Amino acid sequence: MADAVLMDEPLVARLPESFWKRMRDAPARLLMIDYDGTLVPFRVERMEARPSPESYASLQKLVESGHTRVVIVSGRPAEEVAMLLGGLPVTIVGAHGFERFEHLEGTRKSTLTSDETDGLAAADAAARATGLEARIEIKPASVAMHTRGMGHDEAHEAEELAWNVWTPIAERHGLECRTFAGGVEIRSRHYHKGIAVETLLEEMPADVFAVYVGDDDTDEDAFRVLAGRGTGIKVGDPDGQTEAQWRLPDPEAVREMLDHWQAEMHRTVAPAVSVRTPARLIVVSNRLPSFEAKRKPDKTRRGKAAGGLATAVAAALKHTGGGMWIGWTGKTSPRRDARQLRPVAEDPLPILGIDLSDREVDAYYNGFCNHALWPLLHSFQSHVSLSTFELEVYRDVNQAFAQSIRPLLSDGDLVWIHDYHLIHVGAELRRLGFQGRIGFFLHVPFPSLDFLAILPEYHTFVEALAQYDVIGFHTRTYLDNYLYACLRILDAEWDGSRLRAGGRTQRAGVYPAGIDPKRFAPSDAEEGSPVRRRSLKGMKGEGRLMIGVDRLDYTKGIPERLIAMEHLLKIWPELRGRVTMLQICAPSRQRVPEYIEQKRAMDALVGRLNAELGEHDWEPIRYLYRSYAQSDLASFYREAEVGLVTPLRDGMNLVAKEFVAAQRPEEPGVLVLSRFAGASEELTEAVMVNPYLPEDCARGIAEALSMPRGERIERHRAMLAKVTSQTAQKWAADFLRDLSASDP
Ligand code: UDP
Repeated sequence: MADAVLMDEPLVARLPESFWKRMRDAPARLLMIDYDGTLVPFRVERMEARPSPESYASLQKLVESGHTRVVIVSGRPAEEVAMLLGGLPVTIVGAHGFERFEHLEGTRKSTLTSDETDGLAAADAAARATGLEARIEIKPASVAMHTRGMGHDEAHEAEELAWNVWTPIAERHGLECRTFAGGVEIRSRHYHKGIAVETLLEEMPADVFAVYVGDDDTDEDAFRVLAGRGTGIKVGDPDGQTEAQWRLPDPEAVREMLDHWQAEMHRTVAPAVSVRTPARLIVVSNRLPSFEAKRKPDKTRRGKAAGGLATAVAAALKHTGGGMWIGWTGKTSPRRDARQLRPVAEDPLPILGIDLSDREVDAYYNGFCNHALWPLLHSFQSHVSLSTFELEVYRDVNQAFAQSIRPLLSDGDLVWIHDYHLIHVGAELRRLGFQGRIGFFLHVPFPSLDFLAILPEYHTFVEALAQYDVIGFHTRTYLDNYLYACLRILDAEWDGSRLRAGGRTQRAGVYPAGIDPKRFAPSDAEEGSPVRRRSLKGMKGEGRLMIGVDRLDYTKGIPERLIAMEHLLKIWPELRGRVTMLQICAPSRQRVPEYIEQKRAMDALVGRLNAELGEHDWEPIRYLYRSYAQSDLASFYREAEVGLVTPLRDGMNLVAKEFVAAQRPEEPGVLVLSRFAGASEELTEAVMVNPYLPEDCARGIAEALSMPRGERIERHRAMLAKVTSQTAQKWAADFLRDLSASDP
C-alpha cells in the first residue's frame, strides 16, 4: 500500500531523501515508465497522446545521460510508442511485454499459442456482435475495448458488457480479462507488465536500483514483481488500492521526477558528455553547404536545397561553443592568395572557403576524387582510372587545406573532417602540431581490402585514417572492412569499440546518417508549388505512380532500374497503361566526360523503352533531367505508391529515408530497396531487391504494387520509427559526443 504523501508539497518532499540517496549510491539504475496516464496524459484520440515538449526534453536528457537505463513499458504496440516518442533512443516494451523495440534494431515479437489466437479471434467477433465494434482495438496479444470519451454510465455499461461476453471465452482459451484505465481487455496470461519487469531485472546487475512508475491496473503486476526488489510509484487516483510504495499525482509530477532524477545524478556523477560542449567545432568538407533553400522562393529556379548533412551540422554548431565550416568555394582562381580562407557566408553559420587552381580541380577533384576514389570506394573496379600525378595533387590539396586551417585552430577545438576528398587532412594537421581532437566521417562505403589495394600506396590511406581520434561509418559492414584493413596493414588491435595502432587509440563506430524527417512529413512539409502538383496529377492520369530520385551517377543503378521496368511490363503485360515510373535525375559532375556519356546513354534508353513499350496515350517512363527543391520532392514521394531506391552501391541513400518520412501513415507507399544501399541495414522492412538482377527487381516492384494495405501500414510504421529516431541531428550529436569524449 502506497505511503500517504502530501500532494501539494514540492516533489523532493513527495519522494523521500532515502529514495534519492539509494538512487545516487546504486551502482546501476533502471527506470521503467508506463506511457499513457503516466508519461503523457490521456487523450480521446490515442495518437494525440504525445509528451509535452517539456516532458520530452526531460526524458531525452535522462535517456542520453548514460547513467540510467530508461525503459518505456506500455500496453500499446511498441512501434506505436516509438513513433509517438519521435525517435528517442530508448528501449520500449510494448503490448504488455509481447514486443520489444530496441533503437536501431527494430522490434522483436513473441508468439501466441494457437488456442490463444483462436480465443482472441472469438473475443473480437463476440464484441463486434454486441455492437462494441467501434470501440475495439486488436493488439498483438490482446483485444481491448476502449471507453475513453464516453460518459460515466455509458462507459460502465460497455465495460460490463465486454466483461460478460469475454469472461467465458477467456476461461475456454486460457486467456484473462482485465480492466485498465479507459477500458477492458482480454489478453494472453503469458505477457503482462510483471513478467516484462522480471525480464528487465534479469538483464541488470543484482544490486540495480529499479523503479517502476505506472498509473493503472495493468501496472499493478509490475509493482507486485518489484516488491522487495525495487520501488513502485503509482500515478493518479490518490485513494485507489495499490501495491506501489509511493504516489505521484499526475504526468506533470512524473516530469518533475525525471528532472529531479537527472539533477540528483549530477550531484554525484561527472556530467555525462553531451554535444553541448564549450569546445568550438570546426567542420571541414570538400564542398560547402548550399543554403539556397533559405533564399526567397523563385518559381523559375531549378531547386537545390540544403541537404541533411548541412542541416545537421548547422544544428550541431548551435549546440557547441560556436565554430565554423571550411571547404572549397567551388571556384577556381589563379591568384597566389587563392589559398587564403575567405568568408563565403555568415548565416546561419560562418562559412569560410579556399579557391583551387584549374589544375588542382582537374587532377584532384575531377581526377583522383572522381576517377579513382569514388569508383574504388563503391567497388566499381572497372571505372577506376589511376595516375600518380593525380595522387600527388590530391595529397597537395589535402596539405593545403590543413595549412589554411591550422592558424585558426586552438587545441581545445573539435575538428570534424568529412569524406573521401580529405582523408589526409587529419594526419597533415598533426604534422603541423595540432594536438586537439580530430574526427573523420566517411559518407561513402568502405570496400574490402582487396578492392582498396587497387589504390597506389593504399596503406598510406589506412595509416592516415587511423590517425583520427574518432572515425565513423554509415554501416557495420563498412566498419568491419575498415577494421580488417587496419588489422592486416597496421597490425592493430580492436577491443570492440577502440582500435589501437602505432601508439594511438581511435574510437571507430557506426553512425548511420539520417534526415530531418519534419521536412518531409505529410503534416508539416510544404506541398511543393501548386503548378508541380497539378502537373504530376495530370501525368499520372488514372495510373499508379512509382518514383526514383537520384543524382545521375552509375552507382545509382538507374539504367538497370529502367531495364527492370521493361521486365515488369513484359512479365505482367496487364500493368501496361496502368503504371508510370517518374525518374528524376539530378545533374551531377556535368563536366566529367564519363558523366556526360551517362546522360547520353540514359536519353537513348528512355527513348527506346518509351517507343517500344508505350502507347499513343501512355508512356511507361517519365524522365526528368533536373533537380527539385526538397519540398517538391516531398509531395512527389507522397503521391507515389512505390519508391524505387535501387543503387548498385550506395554509402547510405537518404532518398530511401525521405520517401518513408513523406508517406501518409494510414495509406503509405512501399519502398523497394537495393540490398547494396547502406540504408538496407536499417530499413529492413522494405521490399529488398538485387539491382543487378532485373527479374528480381521486377519481382520486387510487382510485390510492392500488390501489397495489401495492412502489410503496407505495418512495414511503413516500423521504418518510420527508425527514420524518425536516427535523424540527421542525432547522427551529428552521437558523433560529436564521442569526439568530445576522446583523448587526443
Ligand atoms: N535531392 C534534391 N533534389 C533533387 C534530387 C535529390 O534535393 O532533385 C536531394 C535528396 O532529397 C537527397 C539528396 O539529394 O537528400 C541525395 O542524397 P542521397 O543520399 O540519396 O544520394 P547522394 O546524392 O548523396 O549520393
